[in-house]
Amino acid sequence: MDALLKSQPTVFVIFGGTGDLNARKLAPALYNLYLEGWMPDHFAFIGTGRTKLTDNDFRVRVTGDVNKFSRSGQVKDEQWQSFAPNIYYQPADVQDAETYKEFGKKIKALEKEWKAPANVIYYLAVAPNFFPIIAENLAKAGLTEDAGCTRIVIEKPFGHDLASAKELNLLLGRIFQEKQIYRIDHYLGKETVQNIMAFRFANAIMEPLWNRNSIEHVQISVTEQLGVGDRLGYYDGSGALRDMIQNHLLQLLCIVAMEPPVSFSAEEVRNRKVDVLRAMRRFTPDTVREQAVRGQYASGWMEGQQVPGYREEPGANPHSNTETFAAVKFFVDNWRWQGVPFYLRTGKRLHRSASVITIQFKDVPHLIFSPETAETMRQNRLVISIQPEMSIRLQVQAKRPGVDMMLNTVDMVFDYKGTYQSEAPEAYETLLLDVMLGDQTLFMRADQVEEAWDLVMPILTSWQTRTSQNFPNYSADSWGPEDAEALVAKDGFHWFTLPLNGKK
Ligand code: NAP
Repeated sequence: MDALLKSQPTVFVIFGGTGDLNARKLAPALYNLYLEGWMPDHFAFIGTGRTKLTDNDFRVRVTGDVNKFSRSGQVKDEQWQSFAPNIYYQPADVQDAETYKEFGKKIKALEKEWKAPANVIYYLAVAPNFFPIIAENLAKAGLTEDAGCTRIVIEKPFGHDLASAKELNLLLGRIFQEKQIYRIDHYLGKETVQNIMAFRFANAIMEPLWNRNSIEHVQISVTEQLGVGDRLGYYDGSGALRDMIQNHLLQLLCIVAMEPPVSFSAEEVRNRKVDVLRAMRRFTPDTVREQAVRGQYASGWMEGQQVPGYREEPGANPHSNTETFAAVKFFVDNWRWQGVPFYLRTGKRLHRSASVITIQFKDVPHLIFSPETAETMRQNRLVISIQPEMSIRLQVQAKRPGVDMMLNTVDMVFDYKGTYQSEAPEAYETLLLDVMLGDQTLFMRADQVEEAWDLVMPILTSWQTRTSQNFPNYSADSWGPEDAEALVAKDGFHWFTLPLNGKK
């Protein structure tokens, strides 16, 4: 435990305190950090929104949220009674500059009570169109002046395209220093994602294999069974490429492809990740057609239930051109990765929900076994499961027991649940703690966000200008459109079946 953190009074101001993100992720994360002794001795969690609530109303509401969504289950009376008095509510319309004075007064009152200045963390869990006005109003109210103790956390999406991301970076840069800005990509807070860095950079055996000499290709799949649900309003203006590939999947790719940083410091790690994005081959209109596939789900049946197609979802545009599936082949043009394809795919209403990175190694240079012996043999694979299974499997060939020589693929497995008794923290717990500690390693720097947008812009532009003629083009409960199969098949590969609770 960090003694400095314990002694540093901290105030979280959560814009969007009455929203879904706070209910499902932020409030439970703060409570779990408290239960595990990570919160400072003096802290406050001030929720805000237009809804008129008293402190007590908000406490009751948060109790219900934590009971419903926390990994630690229902709150225990004694622990909750000591946590709840730290929760406050301040009704405010973020567009009304006057109301920000109330935050200032509240923070001052808390500092007076604690007899110490506080670190103040403004968390923007609101629609992205409010990010600029909140930053500007915080500045107008004089709430951003102390760069040493003020931080701002920006939720995704960070921009809608390259131009808007640059504009937002410019605006934030006028008010805050980069060291105060925490751009969230919650994938980076996941235990299994952080473990990729431990796996790569704390094991000497990996590095000699981790390059174009040994690796044939890489697949990164983040698939969801759910449809668009109640996110339609946001999603229809976004689509799978913006919502998932521009941020989460490209960040996973960066962790797989980055060079070893000199140290595990925020700047070193982020420098090496941005190097990957800068090395990625840019698209032309022709390569977009060859290397990027989009899809939209049709109606169908999922686990015995009939589900509507995307264009039939309540409130949907019956002619929507928005993709709910995207698969893209990327290349990283540097010495380590030249010629190794990275296939990324993501989509909604797919057969299974899973986030998996598979690294397929090259075939043996010469096979000494007969075709019958090697019938079930396959190339080595490293399968890194991020969710729901949390594991790393190295698939190797072994002799099947018996008098004859038959080869079989077996897994060498590191499985979180089997290895550790303690439960992994939620990504938001890790990330909120890092904001309190002032550690930006797992957050996106301005240049990272802009490089990622720059990379996907030709695909976005092409898809916006060319209306898809075949939407909807995949049925619910499938693995996406046929074109996605063709994308890998034309290179001689297939999409790997995603692991489910240890089964392949
Ligand atoms: P949400 O449920 O719609 O909540 C929106 C929040 O904004 C509410 O608390 C609402 O409070 C507040 N709000 C709206 N207009 C306001 C105004 N004029 N002044 C003050 N407050 C206002 O949205 P959400 O799902 O929590 O998402 C919030 C942000 O997190 C979005 O940027 C989203 O992309 C991102 N995000 C969400 C999730 C998730 O799981 N939900 C995951 C990743 C990222 P009142 O109605 O009380 O005004």
